Amino acid sequence: MLPKLRNRSWSIVFRISAAYAAITIALLSISGACLYWCLKVSLDENARSTLADKISVLRQILRERPDDEEALEEEVKWESTARHQSVFYGRLQQNDGTLVMQSPGAENLIPDSSKCPPAANENQWLGETREYRPGPDKTMLLASAKMASPPVEKRYSNPDRHFVYTVALDTTPEQRILGDYRNNLLLVLIGGSIASAVAGTHVAKRGIRPIHQISAAAHRITANALADRVGATAWPRELAGLAAEFDGMLQRLEESFKRLSQFSADIAHELRTPINNLMGEAEVALRRVRSSEEYARVIASSLEEYHRLSALIDSLLFLARAENADLLLHRKWFQASEELTQILSYHELQASEQGITLLSFGDAQIYADATLFRRALSNVIANALKHTASGGTVTVRVREKPITNASSPAETGPTASGGVELLIEDTGEGIPPEHLSRIFDRFYRVDTSRARSTVGIGLGLAIVKTIMELHAGSADVKSELGKGTCVSLVFPRPNVTQQIPSRDFQIA
Ligand code: ATP
Ligand code: MG
Repeated sequence: MLPKLRNRSWSIVFRISAAYAAITIALLSISGACLYWCLKVSLDENARSTLADKISVLRQILRERPDDEEALEEEVKWESTARHQSVFYGRLQQNDGTLVMQSPGAENLIPDSSKCPPAANENQWLGETREYRPGPDKTMLLASAKMASPPVEKRYSNPDRHFVYTVALDTTPEQRILGDYRNNLLLVLIGGSIASAVAGTHVAKRGIRPIHQISAAAHRITANALADRVGATAWPRELAGLAAEFDGMLQRLEESFKRLSQFSADIAHELRTPINNLMGEAEVALRRVRSSEEYARVIASSLEEYHRLSALIDSLLFLARAENADLLLHRKWFQASEELTQILSYHELQASEQGITLLSFGDAQIYADATLFRRALSNVIANALKHTASGGTVTVRVREKPITNASSPAETGPTASGGVELLIEDTGEGIPPEHLSRIFDRFYRVDTSRARSTVGIGLGLAIVKTIMELHAGSADVKSELGKGTCVSLVFPRPNVTQQIPSRDFQIA
């Protein structure tokens, strides 16, 4: 039951109105309690000073007019009955407890001395006071005080001139005021809480209206309307950031979506051509019975298309795996020259057939995945051989690259600083400058008008770029039309790589 409650997501409106109500209850309670306390203190003070007054008057009468019995009776017996405000009752006793006189009705309203507060000394202004309830609706505040009078002739039979005066002030009206005040405060508290909860709900609903609007705007955006943006509306400042972030996300999604659509279209296009070729050849071959040489020619030509298709699928699979983080890099230190010898010997035959000189200079320790290193380098060398005429040269140089902060705009990797640089230079036809920025794109080919056998799939350099990104390295190209092309691949040093949070990839 409890975890269920904890997991429950309360609405913002409810939270805000509940918070409003709680704050109002707290504020009203605190301020109400303070006001109540202040009122009570001042009423108490008032009552105490009235009691002190009464005691002081009687002390004065006893001290200054000890034989003026009339004044004494006037004060103790009659004044109380004459009053409407600050009604009080008095009882004058001798020190031994003998009753001297008391106000009419005092016998019921003033308890016996054991229940009264201890009498204040003669020099004390007012002693302890005590509340006494003679009935359910009556409250009296009691005070007692000792007092003395000088001796007089034949006054009272008892020669003791020391008295105890107990005075009881009727505080029922004050108690009623306090009670009414308490009830009013409670009403204000309840009313205020309800009002603030209602106001809070209203304010919260108005406050979150833009959230509903933003969600409605987001709802309108579909895969077909990715160009729409929510940031066009003037949102409140708190939501403007969210709208901007949302638009940023849409922008990225739109770009990815476009790239993906373009990529799918390109794949369909690339697949359609070889498959059409295969179908066409097969249909022509099947039209009539042919000699075995003719069939062999058709099969050989089909095989060429199958190879092309297989290479295309292989490249697409590699790119898809790299994109889905399905690859785990097996990085290790190796000598660049050792791998280069293998790669160059693989391309040597083609180079010598084309009459191209294949050279390599320099060496360095490289920290990379050897298989991917071979694949990247092979792709670049194959391009160089493909675009260099007979008599030309393809040179691979290996050199240490010092750490620099400068990076060329054509660099594709996240870093170009520190590492080992491989420069693959050819003396071939070169690449027109307007194509340079795009040749690392998927399916991008500079010259598609050439013979089909020489035109590649257009994924070679895209794979090189992906491999370099996996290594947190960079790939760059410089070219001069008619003079040649130079591709630079930088494999960063491990410490440089570690600074960059790169994914770990596994070759499936
Ligand atoms: P693939 O390598 O997938 O078989 P491809 O070689 O056409 O096909 P990329 O390797 O990606 O594709 O190269 C893209 C384009 O860049 C090429 O079509 C080519 O026009 C141009 N290019 C690449 N390297 C060179 C080079 N060394 N000299 C001249 N042009 C080049
Ligand atoms: Mg290529």
